[in-house]
Amino acid sequence: MADEEPAEDEIGKLAQSLRCHLERRRRAGIRLQSNPQQDNTIKTKMTAANPVSTMTGGELFAEPGPLLDAKSLEELRAEIGDCRRCKLCAGRTNIVYGVGNPHARLMFVGEGPGRDEDLQGEPFVGRAGQLLNDIVTKGMGLKREEVYIANVVKCRPPENRNPEPDQVAACEPFLKKQIDLVQPEIIVGLGKFAVQTLLQSKVPITKVRGNWHRYHGIKLMPTFHPAYLLRNPADKKLVWEDIKKVIKELNGENS
Ligand code: URA
Repeated sequence: MADEEPAEDEIGKLAQSLRCHLERRRRAGIRLQSNPQQDNTIKTKMTAANPVSTMTGGELFAEPGPLLDAKSLEELRAEIGDCRRCKLCAGRTNIVYGVGNPHARLMFVGEGPGRDEDLQGEPFVGRAGQLLNDIVTKGMGLKREEVYIANVVKCRPPENRNPEPDQVAACEPFLKKQIDLVQPEIIVGLGKFAVQTLLQSKVPITKVRGNWHRYHGIKLMPTFHPAYLLRNPADKKLVWEDIKKVIKELNGENS
């Protein structure tokens, strides 16, 4: 019968999806509990050799994302390992993790590494990075080592393209955990991509920049990306307005 075929197809897809799901759980070290009431705290340990999200085709049993139990930035870096969780790994030279004071009051979040960052393994070291350094040192009177700097994705997208949604999804838990570990008082979101990721909203950067927002209770100031400022130097004055608000907040002058 004609309508039996889709049903068989559905069952096939379901079986395939379940197989993928169980395989991911096996690779993540999750065992089925014979009596879930005895121990319902199933722990996933995700390691470089054990990436949970490398399989495809299991949409019906999609994983909720890695459970990261790192207690420090070093431990988190170790959990990232020689990451193969998304296809950006194929084109990278170095994973660009993050840099700066692990207890910084102020954190900058950019989009993802460019060519210089990929080669050196450190965020914001190219031309845009030089401008960010000027903002931090000349504008704010801080040292680069006093703040923490990270990106949404840790591997360079080819030809500096915007990272794709699955690439962001694979990397975002690590940014969230970095923020959680650093616990900054203020985050400056650099550019549309970082800000939209942090706010989980497609709102244009021109609408949100210069106004305070919240990221999980942390004050978030969206502003233009330094690379945008290199192309549009006239907008530097707008960024300076935003940065002055951040300085005031850091100095407790807004309360
Ligand atoms: N642009 C970014 O968003 N991040 C970097 O690290 C460098 C350039």
